[in-house]
Amino acid sequence: MSQEKKQFIKDSEKIAFDKRHRATIKFNISKYDVAVDRGRKRYSNLDLAKDRASFIKSEAIINLPQYLLEFEKNSQANGAEVIWADDANEAIQAVQQILKDNEAKLLVKSKSMTTEEIELNEHVEAIGVESLETDLGEYIVQIAGEKPYHIVTPAMHKSKEDISDLFHEKFDTPEKSTPQYLTNFVRGLLREKFTQADVGVTGANFLIADKGAIALTENEGNAMMTFSFPKIHIVIAGIEKVVPTMKDLGLMWPLLAAHGTGQQITVYNSIVSGPKRTTEEDGPEKMYVILLDNKRSELYGKDDQFEALKCIRCGACLNACPIYKNVGGYTYDATYSGPIGSIITPFFKGFSEYNHLSSACSVCGKCTEVCPVRIPLHNMLLYNRRDAVRNGDTPLGWNMGMKAFEYAFMKRKRLDLLGGNMKNKLGKLKEDALGDKKSLPTFAKESFSKQWKNKH
Ligand code: SF4
Repeated sequence: MSQEKKQFIKDSEKIAFDKRHRATIKFNISKYDVAVDRGRKRYSNLDLAKDRASFIKSEAIINLPQYLLEFEKNSQANGAEVIWADDANEAIQAVQQILKDNEAKLLVKSKSMTTEEIELNEHVEAIGVESLETDLGEYIVQIAGEKPYHIVTPAMHKSKEDISDLFHEKFDTPEKSTPQYLTNFVRGLLREKFTQADVGVTGANFLIADKGAIALTENEGNAMMTFSFPKIHIVIAGIEKVVPTMKDLGLMWPLLAAHGTGQQITVYNSIVSGPKRTTEEDGPEKMYVILLDNKRSELYGKDDQFEALKCIRCGACLNACPIYKNVGGYTYDATYSGPIGSIITPFFKGFSEYNHLSSACSVCGKCTEVCPVRIPLHNMLLYNRRDAVRNGDTPLGWNMGMKAFEYAFMKRKRLDLLGGNMKNKLGKLKEDALGDKKSLPTFAKESFSKQWKNKH
């Protein structure tokens, strides 16, 4: 068993019985459920919208090399510099070089899971540049010294009391401050930083191939300030973020908002196509777009799992997942958690070490049901499990047990060879497999079919 799997089981057992954590997540997800339900009901034909979105993203992913080259050509024509990064290291080196060349001291950053994936903040600070999160949720987890708990709502695991205590401890704000007070406090603090920053880093919700532009969607306006105030704008985006045309946003933006937060459309939506033109007064003088692979190509080569690249990171599958709701975001030990994280993390961080995440699933199918781009998530989790067996990642004892299980279950007669007493004894051998919170039921002496036969 990998060290990562042992840790996952240990952490899951602990957090699943933490009543405070459970109450906070239940409260926050229940708010989300109400909003998203309302958001989805605004569609007269949601199924058709999902079919179309799925088609657009499938088209983009199947023809990914072609669309990425189109994006690069158009982006360069707009005056941006496109940098291809094979892995996190190449992306980090590119960012560090830009910071050094421009003698940067302060970097402001809007919410981006891709930058979390490459641990940008840590690497920027390692060369003496301050890196500041400007999304409120991200800012909260940054000052708490934590990582985002959820791909859309980074501080979902914190109650408003937790956040008030945190700000009181860090900034001596009044005890029991309201969310409104704290939001205004952070706004005042960050406004100044935007004007001082040398570099702004954003992700991209979508890379628009036919315009060579990036699309950003947000609720706080911080991303707009991140890319418009500093003289340099760096975009770091996974290669899967591409959509073929600008008009695709007409469908993708509202669908992402409806499934991410339940909004009809997110408050601020920006399309950024290069640095400022010679005729323009405002905006960044330079724009760099870093296209990150970081094992996405490996996933692209998998016939049964490549569709995971269609993900638009709305977070709906996390909020629907009974496992996520029980074990929480940190237990996954990964940037991307929940069902989508359990599929892609083994590819991103090492299949042998992380394929256990694909087994942390009851295959209820709720994730697939809610996904706005129709990724068959629960099927892919099963394909990952299959690949783990094919790779030889499962222990010999487990494989032999499953073979015996398969052999016995193929025929009722074989199953009935073992009486109830023997089944109970075998169950006792693996009693520890269920942990100390559950136990196996006691088998009857005779199987149901035998009892039925005897009675009739
Ligand atoms: S897999 Fe689907 S539901 Fe999950 S985050 Fe991605 S787009 Fe949303």
